[in-house]
Amino acid sequence: MSFFKKVINVFKREQFDWDELEHTLISSDLGVKLTMQILDQLQEKGRKLKADDVIETCRREILDILPEEQPSLEIFEDKPTVILVVGVNGVGKTTSTAKLAHYFQSRELGVTLAAADTFRAAAIEQLEVWSDRLSIPLVKGQYKADPSSVCFNAYDAAVKNGSKFLICDTAGRLHTRHNLMEELKKVERVLAKKDPDAPSERWLVVDATTGSNALNQAQEFNKIMDLTGLIVTKLDGSGKGGCVISIQHELGIPTRFIGTGETAEDFHSFKAAQFVDEIL
Ligand code: GDP
Ligand code: MG
Repeated sequence: MSFFKKVINVFKREQFDWDELEHTLISSDLGVKLTMQILDQLQEKGRKLKADDVIETCRREILDILPEEQPSLEIFEDKPTVILVVGVNGVGKTTSTAKLAHYFQSRELGVTLAAADTFRAAAIEQLEVWSDRLSIPLVKGQYKADPSSVCFNAYDAAVKNGSKFLICDTAGRLHTRHNLMEELKKVERVLAKKDPDAPSERWLVVDATTGSNALNQAQEFNKIMDLTGLIVTKLDGSGKGGCVISIQHELGIPTRFIGTGETAEDFHSFKAAQFVDEIL
């Protein structure tokens, strides 16, 4: 059900119930902080509240939180910009890595891919299939190889290829697994040895259908690496996309791209105004 319809339903009751409105806002993944802010504003209005007031207040508050323009990506004259793609299992890291590569490539910005998810043989093959299909060079390691060594080699290949971007797909990890998180830090350290600017970007992939879990994931990953962006996938499904707002609001991490399907084209640069129109 759309957010708008849910709010309308709250107003259809005999007796307007603030708790129900609060529940509706929270279950839209707006986050507790923003929900409280919106409720405070509405209570201040002190007159008979209408559904339109709620929608308008939400729109204003959300647009206030989401930056109009995204921070721009630094592109270097003589070396690749490295983007590390991280997240838990199954959120769409590998697919998003391929889509992102396709996005840059079709804008005349060359890309090299690193298959740094060496944890599962199938993950390497999956990215290889994309790399063949999209004609984008890929560097891979052996199954179970050290992901940092794959990224290390891929950096050299990206320089040799004259790529503007090196995008590193990594293994899905539970934010509660200490060793795997340490492994990510090692990837960062090893890349920084090659190039003190690398990785310029550390993007977390979250699945919009997981609701408020996405915020937890962002909190945990952000503790071990300074996340610089978010890719929100599966917005074509039942995903509500509220996590875009809560993660920006609570952690200051901007959404860069959204995934809306399984093909390379189902991927769009994030635009705040358009997003708000779609969710409200
Ligand atoms: P990873 O484990 O994080 O690397 O996740 P994958 O990239 O392997 O994706 C897991 C599943 O989600 C695959 O079946 C993808 O096709 C699917 N997927 C990824 N992104 C999207 C999306 O934006 N929309 C939909 N509907 N499916 C997606
Ligand atoms: Mg994967």
